[in-house]
Amino acid sequence: MKMLISGVLCDSADKSKQNVYNPATGEVIDTIPAATQEDVERAIRDSVEGQREWGAIPLYKRGQILENFCKILEKNGDEIATVLTKEMGKPYREARNDIGAVTGIFRAYIAAAATYLGETMPIGAQGGKEHDFEFTVREPLGTVACIVPYNGPLVLFAYKAAPALIAGNAIVVKPASDDPLAVLMLGSLLLEAGVPAKAIQFISGSGSKIGKYISENPLVNRISFTGSTAVGIEIYEKAAKNLTHVSLELGGNAPFVLMPDGQVDVAVQEAFLGRAATLTGQVCNTSKRFIIHESLKNEFMEKLISKLKTLVMGDPFDPETTLGSLVSEHAAKEIESQIQKTVAQGARLVYGGERNGAYIVPAVLDGLTMDMEVMHDMEIFGPVFPIITFNTYEEAIEIANATTYGLGASIYTENMRTALRFAKDVQAGSVIVNGNSYYRSLLMPFGGYKKSGIGREGLFTALDEVTQIKCIVFKGML
Ligand code: NAP
Ligand code: MG
Repeated sequence: MKMLISGVLCDSADKSKQNVYNPATGEVIDTIPAATQEDVERAIRDSVEGQREWGAIPLYKRGQILENFCKILEKNGDEIATVLTKEMGKPYREARNDIGAVTGIFRAYIAAAATYLGETMPIGAQGGKEHDFEFTVREPLGTVACIVPYNGPLVLFAYKAAPALIAGNAIVVKPASDDPLAVLMLGSLLLEAGVPAKAIQFISGSGSKIGKYISENPLVNRISFTGSTAVGIEIYEKAAKNLTHVSLELGGNAPFVLMPDGQVDVAVQEAFLGRAATLTGQVCNTSKRFIIHESLKNEFMEKLISKLKTLVMGDPFDPETTLGSLVSEHAAKEIESQIQKTVAQGARLVYGGERNGAYIVPAVLDGLTMDMEVMHDMEIFGPVFPIITFNTYEEAIEIANATTYGLGASIYTENMRTALRFAKDVQAGSVIVNGNSYYRSLLMPFGGYKKSGIGREGLFTALDEVTQIKCIVFKGML
């Protein structure tokens, strides 16, 4: 596959490439260009001109063009979902659903932008200014760099690109090296839909090599990044030199608290769905630490293990498959070593954990204690259930907050006072009552407390992040 720079499908300037693997089989399925500094800088430079052209197109026409993109994407949905399944190893059914999620996100932003209002100041609110007319307009920032992680390439691309484009910005997109293909394909569809060639730049290559050419470039006006906290901090440091805006959606280690009056079956189902049956647990905001009341621990664990036994691990294209591989063998090995590390620190592996290539059987760890790293900042990005028990609410909240992350949190209780108290006490960007914290809707401002990030993605917030406010004053007009 090629990159798309200024409307031309191209290799990198020095022709170097990277392999893309199918993690389910270990085979190389394609290559991508490994962009050079020159490629990145050219794409960003051209995006400035592209933005002028795109930003000058009236909003309603930009909306029509992006609606064209949605229709073209729908027509090509099977093909793109097939590529996504191959490069990610997730069940085809899940990949196919992503196509509808992407068009849903684009259409929601097209609609939201049409009612994204400026403000008119009350006339005469301040002595001496009563003859002046003051109002605001929102203008695009310019070039928005969209750096996408491997776990939700299409959907997380859409959450960045849709608000940026409808608001009149150019985008420079860098997909993850593990699964860049489906995202790169979308570049050509945006071009076909009518977005000016220079307003959409799709570059590929290793983030650790080319990331700095994006983060340090003064022509980039915002970096919209989703990925790990370590990389987010690195980007933030580099962006600071030019006062480039950043939106950082980072890692998480979300607490899942089952109170003594919680419905165990609901909790088990939600734990299962969010931590294993969706994306093989590779979800930033999903529940990652299971804080279970002592009286319910055995029941919760037994029911969870029975549920995990129903998962069918296998070929992602087989409709019977309900559990895909991890994104790469490397990712599966990392999870395996995190399980081993936690066992070495004293946890008991009571179910699963066996690895075969990029596949891993969901693992249940019992007997967790607060001296173990996983209870704090070791994020396990896959299907692992570390279980710790508590007796009092105070203990539960202390465990819940004992991490520098703060993305999601969830609690299972029938007592609404407890739920509200938890919602107030827990340090997290979203709190879900009687549901897994992998919950995300279009409208909610999604993002993290503490080291889980800066900024909020959502229909009412993302447009603020990709635009800037201009105040206009007509002096002495009244
Ligand atoms: P990652 O290693 O931080 O990579 C994310 C993206 O950044 C990839 O495109 C990567 O490119 C690129 N990158 C790597 N180093 C870079 C650098 N120095 N400068 C600029 N870009 C660089 O994260 P990941 O392993 O793909 O994703 C998993 C992490 O993302 C987890 O921590 C998860 O919790 C978090 N996440 C957060 C959210 C959220 O909304 N808060 C959502 C999903 C995932 P390469 O692939 O080429 O290295
Ligand atoms: Mg891959």
